[in-house]
Amino acid sequence: MINENIKDTCVLIKESDGILIGAGAGLTAAAGLNYSDREAFARVFPAWKRRGFLRQYDLVGYRNWTPLEMWGYWATQLNYVYYSQSTNPLYQKLRSLIGDRNCFVMTSNVDELFHKNGFDTQRIYSPQGSYGKIQCTIPCCQQAWDMKPFFDRLNNALDPVEQIIVDEAAVPVCPNCGGTMFPNVRVDGSMVDGHFAPQRERLLRWLEDMNGKKLLLLDLGSGYNTPAVIRLPMERITDSFANSALIRVNMEHADVPRQIAHKSICIKGDISEFIEQTSQGGT
Ligand SMILES: [Zn+2]
Repeated sequence: MINENIKDTCVLIKESDGILIGAGAGLTAAAGLNYSDREAFARVFPAWKRRGFLRQYDLVGYRNWTPLEMWGYWATQLNYVYYSQSTNPLYQKLRSLIGDRNCFVMTSNVDELFHKNGFDTQRIYSPQGSYGKIQCTIPCCQQAWDMKPFFDRLNNALDPVEQIIVDEAAVPVCPNCGGTMFPNVRVDGSMVDGHFAPQRERLLRWLEDMNGKKLLLLDLGSGYNTPAVIRLPMERITDSFANSALIRVNMEHADVPRQIAHKSICIKGDISEFIEQTSQGGT
């Protein structure tokens, strides 16, 4: 990691009137929850490894399972990436790096780690949903319910060895239509997302207020899986604000389009190392 880049980052953070953090899967991976991590998968999902899967990514969008199998996997997954996570050292470090500066977060991650690590919940936009909510699969209505009571029933009926649900009564059923349910996260066009509109409105108002001021965009780990969610909006905002600067930290894709290159710092490297070094002031 180039020291000049870290020093420039420190100056930009210090001098900015507002910081927009754009977070992608790379940030959560750096925080220890990597959906491609085979070792962690073997440890947390041993029964699913026996069934031939190697990584959590292998089960994203998977359809060929019974409800008892599906919810057995999901109960284990929700416990691992959501309910057992509270404070996370990397997010805590990022939180103290930002301090009490004027900040808004836009994240494609659905684990709510920003919420859990002290960021202002009124200033987080998470358009890909949250593991904390559940919806009708169809959906029959625009409602998302709190996941916890559904999760508790699942967890009580989870066979810890086979990692499947052993009681059909524990399988979530839509309170409105009696149909199947799914976590309130975006996997296709059926996600219920009306309840995220107020977050989006707050972000747009915050950006309006930044007009003419020094805006720093901190892009942490947004890649090309779903570039329209974080990566491209971060570039567009950088381009359209006169007094903006973009810092993009990414293990593989730290590049930016040519028209914003003059106001961007591209750091190809590990996010935790970046946060650590920036916290120390680039010294
Ligand atoms: Zn329904």
